[in-house]
Amino acid sequence: MSLIDRTATSLLADLTACRISSVELTQAYLDQIAHHDGSVRAFLRVRPDEALARAREIDQRRLTGRPLGRLAGLPVAVKDVLCTQGEPTTCGSKMLQNFRPPYDATVIARLKSADAVLIGKTNMDEFAMGGSNENSAYHPTHNPWDLTCIPGGSSGGAAACVAARMTPLSVGTDTGGSVRCPAGMCGISGMKPTYGRVSRYGLVAFASSLDQIGPLAQTAEDMALLLEVMAGHDPADSTSIDLPVPPYTQTVGQPLKGLRLGMVREHFGEGLDAEVDAAVREAVRVYESLGATVKWVSLPHCKYAVAVYYVIAPCEASSNLARYDGVHYGFRTDEKQMLADLQVERAQMQKAGDKAALESLDNPLIRMYRRSRAEGFGPEVKRRIMLGTYALSAGYYDAYYKKALKVRRLIRQDFDRAFEEVDLLIGPVTPTPAFKMGEKIDDPLAMYLFDLYTVSTNLAGIGALSIPCGFSSSGLPIGLHLQAPPFEEERLLRGAGMFQKATDWHGKKPGLVEDVVDCSLDMR
Ligand code: GLN
Repeated sequence: MSLIDRTATSLLADLTACRISSVELTQAYLDQIAHHDGSVRAFLRVRPDEALARAREIDQRRLTGRPLGRLAGLPVAVKDVLCTQGEPTTCGSKMLQNFRPPYDATVIARLKSADAVLIGKTNMDEFAMGGSNENSAYHPTHNPWDLTCIPGGSSGGAAACVAARMTPLSVGTDTGGSVRCPAGMCGISGMKPTYGRVSRYGLVAFASSLDQIGPLAQTAEDMALLLEVMAGHDPADSTSIDLPVPPYTQTVGQPLKGLRLGMVREHFGEGLDAEVDAAVREAVRVYESLGATVKWVSLPHCKYAVAVYYVIAPCEASSNLARYDGVHYGFRTDEKQMLADLQVERAQMQKAGDKAALESLDNPLIRMYRRSRAEGFGPEVKRRIMLGTYALSAGYYDAYYKKALKVRRLIRQDFDRAFEEVDLLIGPVTPTPAFKMGEKIDDPLAMYLFDLYTVSTNLAGIGALSIPCGFSSSGLPIGLHLQAPPFEEERLLRGAGMFQKATDWHGKKPGLVEDVVDCSLDMR
């Protein structure tokens, strides 16, 4: 097996034993990126020189017997929504094209002190809003299993680069399914930890009551490794919980005895693709053969989850994104041009004697805000800001936002009730495998409905993961969704680990052909 096809855990063992060097490993991934990222386009930026320099330094430290961190020498890619000190952090948006944060996100700082090699920043839907990666202001990412399909989103780049063996580990974020959906559609493993498990300090906020950072990798074991480094209390994030981090890597290999699984009745109904349904039911049989008992459970309020999510998330987004006004943060319109346009407009109005129009002309400051936001944000982000502003406005607040909060509580109670009877919930992660690029781009509702099975996890604040469980007849990966009670990441990982011991879906990789286009690794 070639180096790049191996799991992070097995590579780490060889790095630790000096059987391979970090330079050799990093170079192997950089070569894979150079050969294939011209067509996959998982990265917004690759850092070949910095990564190799870091790898060299870690190799040196190892040779001289100095202490090293948990991930010493392993390449990791990070979604471009996490602040990296002094380096671009664009959130897939034109708004932040020139943003270089003055500090590292806590997760980045933890990766650095664990001696990971940060290989690059990955593509994403603008401000993590989307499920296909087509909302990136820079370029879409392609699914490595079929380049004409979307990789899922919004952490599409982070999922595609692991699937395409361009890095063994990556970090994504999940507000309504953005780690799990692309992991499912790219045939890899991805987890959304419990709200509060991983610090979000330095994560550019989308919807603060839902956002969570999570690992993407080939296997449950590898997710355990990355989560162990990322998780834990951080005084800089008031929502991070002060609970000890269990030793996930030590327990992930232990199967769950007497596991009680719940199949969510509402997740096996209308809209579920027949092949996905069959693959998930087959996965349930695998668990049964491993000794699990299975029963049907109901989450009666989850039918409202998409509606509730698409009120709460846009409300929070409209507030979070108010800071991008071209002054505090972000892109600013060309002011010379703006003033020139204003003069032309005013002259026209004066000529026409239109007094009312003249009076309604906004002042240059307001106009600058308006133009900066109009030019800096893409259409989906604007849609969310408008939805959220509307739902929060006087007269609608109670009818939409407050109502959504009440239903959110009922959704959480559904989960609490279900977890009195079962240990984990099992079901599909997305209704269908990856769809064609462009297929849903003009139909936001269809795109939103794709989040049917994942958003309730975030609304309830619990943890969940996706692992590969089969393929469609057209060769596209199918993801299996496991959900657990709060702070039961260990249970999730052990549940995923026992499935992966019994199956080999996670070991499959896409047959990428050599890029025909020349790919530049510079900022694209
Ligand atoms: N697809 C969902 C959305 O567009 C989820 C996004 C996410 O989890 N960041 O809001």
